[in-house]
Amino acid sequence: MSMKVLVINSGSSSIKFELYVMPEKKVEAKGLLQKIGEESSELKAKVGGEEVVVKRRVKDHAEGLKLIVGALTDAQHGGLKDISEIGAVGHRVVHGGEAFAETALITDEVVKAIEAHIEVAPLHNPPNLLGIRVARELLPKVPQVAVFDTSFHQSMPDYAYTYAIPYELYKEHKVRRYGFHGTSHRYVAARAAALLGKPLSAVNLITAHLGNGCSITAIRGGKSVDTSMGLTPLEGLVMGTRSGDIDPALIAYLERVKKLSVAEIDNLLNKKSGLLGLSGKSNDVRSVLAAEAEGDKRAALAMSIYCYRVKKYLGAYTAALGTVHAVVFTAGVGENAASVRARILENLAPLGYELDAEKNKSAGGKDLDVATPASRIRILVIPTNEELLIAQDTYELASRN
Ligand code: ADP
Repeated sequence: MSMKVLVINSGSSSIKFELYVMPEKKVEAKGLLQKIGEESSELKAKVGGEEVVVKRRVKDHAEGLKLIVGALTDAQHGGLKDISEIGAVGHRVVHGGEAFAETALITDEVVKAIEAHIEVAPLHNPPNLLGIRVARELLPKVPQVAVFDTSFHQSMPDYAYTYAIPYELYKEHKVRRYGFHGTSHRYVAARAAALLGKPLSAVNLITAHLGNGCSITAIRGGKSVDTSMGLTPLEGLVMGTRSGDIDPALIAYLERVKKLSVAEIDNLLNKKSGLLGLSGKSNDVRSVLAAEAEGDKRAALAMSIYCYRVKKYLGAYTAALGTVHAVVFTAGVGENAASVRARILENLAPLGYELDAEKNKSAGGKDLDVATPASRIRILVIPTNEELLIAQDTYELASRN
């Protein structure tokens, strides 16, 4: 039976939403409410093929969700006839820690467990929880489901997720690698297996999610066995504003030499580093590439570092997996920036990666294999769709309960 599933991604001052008809995978409405709590709050949505824009102060998330549901049930646009048509709500939740290896039906206990992970995800879990709270209040009879960014990576072996620091820190404080973007890595892995014509359990993949945030995952037999993000989403690849890997001694050094507080260093590494810090211009790959094309040396260095870091991880994960069937590029940069893919894969033919330059240029917007016919390892460009996976998980769990 068809079910309408509302997918919610609740941020600190925004709510992103998508209304799916499942199992048909049809998007009936989608939109974004921004600047919650400010005078200039703005809802931009597409409902039943029509653009809806509402500009007025929205004081909090509860009012925000009411406004969204109001837009969805507005007779003019023909989204929902009534709020009761929503059969289930799926929430994106960033950190589920070790408590959630799978998507979960939300109960009071689940909410408590998500609250318990605020310490490791202070920026993300509180707004995610807020979205859950207001949705449960507004739709008390509707099953609500939490899909975690961390779940997919719970299959990592201990030697991949444990840091070489005193073991008590893991035992007592759960300090370890968790990994993020799991919904995206899981989604593209399933698409890749379909494209390769093999069951997911029979494929080894390396999936590179290159967006504003970037992470790369090694997948053996369909399961994550290593990933570049760690305890938090700061570790690993170079990102828009995040440094990725650094020498951890840098923190003490900056404290001593620059007299920065730990909070200031945390902010520097998360918000002022990456492409922005390197280029001094922008966190946005398109802008940095444009500056590089105009001869900007720092922009060129920024892109070289960005691509080199991905290349290093690709090599490391090729070694970790032994046999790799395909590498997958996804998210804003991975799907659209042909020159970035080419730079990452340059000179990797000895490892089995041979890019077809022409096919690579034509990729974007749809699933495509851009490797040469002779390439030992397939090179796939696959648009990610985290909302669809959340809708699928939500539909499955809600139909069972
Ligand atoms: P988010 O992680 O916020 O979902 P996206 O996956 O949309 O972000 O990725 C945003 C990044 O993708 C930005 O750095 C943007 O410049 C880059 N991007 C989008 N389109 C292109 C393109 N055609 N060429 C190069 N970079 C692109």
